[in-house]
Amino acid sequence: FAPWNEADKEPFVRIENVTKKFGNFVAIDNISLNIFEREFYALLGPSGCGKTTLLRMLAGFEIPTSGRIIIDGEDMSKVPPHKRPVNMMFQSYALFPHMTVEQNIAFGLKQDHLPKAEIADQVERMINLVKLNAFAKRKPEQLSGGQRQRVALARSLAKNPKMLLLDEPLGALDKKLREETQFELMNIQEKLGITFVIVTHDQEEAMTVSSRIAVMDSGTVAQVAPPAEIYEFPNSRKVADFIGDVNIFEGRVADVQADSAQILINASDVPVRTGRSVEAALGETVWVAVRPEKMIVSLNPPKNMTENVLKGEVWDIGYLGKLSVYHVRLQDKRMVTVAMTNRYRETEHTITWEDSVYVSWAPNASVVLMS
Ligand code: ATP
Repeated sequence: FAPWNEADKEPFVRIENVTKKFGNFVAIDNISLNIFEREFYALLGPSGCGKTTLLRMLAGFEIPTSGRIIIDGEDMSKVPPHKRPVNMMFQSYALFPHMTVEQNIAFGLKQDHLPKAEIADQVERMINLVKLNAFAKRKPEQLSGGQRQRVALARSLAKNPKMLLLDEPLGALDKKLREETQFELMNIQEKLGITFVIVTHDQEEAMTVSSRIAVMDSGTVAQVAPPAEIYEFPNSRKVADFIGDVNIFEGRVADVQADSAQILINASDVPVRTGRSVEAALGETVWVAVRPEKMIVSLNPPKNMTENVLKGEVWDIGYLGKLSVYHVRLQDKRMVTVAMTNRYRETEHTITWEDSVYVSWAPNASVVLMS
């Protein structure tokens, strides 16, 4: 399901050349983005890159210094938060402590003076949606963190917003619960068929839940793409480095073919083969990114390989259960990180600290970056 491929479809949200300054400080620097109906869209980036500021502008809590935000075909410049077809769920949840789960969820509906029966129906629907039936009469202090998170979610969905904005919604949950809740959020979003925009600094979370990710960097957007594309084909060293672990080698182009290229790593001159051509001149400086799990550590030299082979020594090994992570110190003293599954550990465990090893990978695992 890829709504953003529908070229003739009007985006649900258009962020057009939006800049936000706080005094002289530019928090958002001329960003343009489209978000489509039913997308689960993630704003991802390091602390301070402007994610929350952008989300708050969608909600109407901040007004752009310049540029326009159009939601559902309407320019939001003069539309206050409560008149937007949007609701926001905060990390702190902000539940009313003296109200029960039901009353918390009903609060916004009561303020809108909806008929009692309608409110009761909607509250029940929301309680079913987030599976809190057994807890409807409890107060927030009688709930676990995960249950409170669900009350906050139900409350923010009660008024049937066309878009839900989530600011680090799972930040307060422990890892296991967080992972479970990510799948629940995805189910709920799919069930309701509305647009979700989530702010997170957790790249695994963004990859798990979202249909597309906008990677932000110092008030600008570095790359927008579906999770797998961001991971497999980052467009710069910054994005490659921010999304997961990566080994980056600086080198220069030595050969360009129609379906591959050769890069010589600087200083060591080790030849690296890529699985795609590159748009670069011979001799030009580029960077090759290789993900740790796409590399192999072996005691014997890989057979019939003259490219994509590095020699080094095992510096340390981290056992992570599913994986073992090897830090290999190359002959030129640079470190390479390799992650190998432990499925075949019985045969692999012979590799140990200070062993002389080979690190190798397939041409398809070499991603060439121009910046
Ligand atoms: P985090 O993940 O830490 O929440 P973020 O990416 O959401 O970070 P923002 O909260 O959007 O970042 O902040 C972006 C920048 O704008 C930060 O440098 C922050 O200090 C600054 N900023 C945000 N709000 C204001 C404000 N009201 N006044 C002045 N500066 C602000």
